[in-house]
Amino acid sequence: MRRTGFKRKPISEQKPMKRTKLKKVSKKPISKIQRELWIECRRIASLWYKKDCYTCQAKKLEGSNCQLGHVPYPKSVLGANLKYSMKVLRWQCFACNIHRGGAGAEAYKRMLREEGKAFMEELELEKQKTVNAYDEYVALLEYYKSITE
Ligand SMILES: [Zn+2]
Repeated sequence: MRRTGFKRKPISEQKPMKRTKLKKVSKKPISKIQRELWIECRRIASLWYKKDCYTCQAKKLEGSNCQLGHVPYPKSVLGANLKYSMKVLRWQCFACNIHRGGAGAEAYKRMLREEGKAFMEELELEKQKTVNAYDEYVALLEYYKSITE
């Protein structure tokens, strides 16, 4: 009877298997996506909101006095699901955004008045959520690029 198999060498004598190189899909660095996202956020805010400060009387903001602030919560307490969300981004003057740390109390009052209680509660819930930043940003960037009005 012909033997068709071959004798395997003991594991110790086998050469390590050649690994097939996985094709690396070049992933955009997250920092680049974030930079692009921020540009989109400013573009959309320009479409949607007048360039007046959300939290004081300053009007027609320009240059470094025209900041896109996180309201009513500061950026530092927001997760990836809200950092670039238009829900929490409004134009603010330099003083409100930087010196007054976003003027959260004022912003909260105005937001509650304009968006309603349900919106504020929803926002509070969203603030507790954790998402995968990279996936969130990629999806958001694609969505934002489609916004034209
Ligand atoms: Zn202001």
